[in-house]
Amino acid sequence: MNKEKVEYFKGILQNQLDGLIDEAFKTVNGMTNSKENFPDPTDRAALETDRNFLLRIRDRERRLIEKIKDALERIDNGTFGICEVCGREIGKERLRARPVTTRCIDCKKKQEAREKAKGL
Ligand SMILES: [Zn+2]
Repeated sequence: MNKEKVEYFKGILQNQLDGLIDEAFKTVNGMTNSKENFPDPTDRAALETDRNFLLRIRDRERRLIEKIKDALERIDNGTFGICEVCGREIGKERLRARPVTTRCIDCKKKQEAREKAKGL
């Protein structure tokens, strides 16, 4: 994947992460008018790594935040967009629809078929 595409996906992931952190912060603190109380960017960065904060937000969101952080890590270490199972490049359309994915469509389908067979 070229640098431009990597930057493109990095932007998407970073936006998603920011949005989730914003939402989670409002939820945790029960804030409706967040403007004046909203933490500055340094505090926000700290929040993203604050385990206590992450433990207080909902499971689904926490898992997504963790997936996005993993994806950002893969961008940093150059493995983003590579299927973790077969090692081939994940299709761009799939990545665009779901940038946090770690498997190509073929491996994902195989996994789903296996889970179905097991009755999961
Ligand atoms: Zn694969």
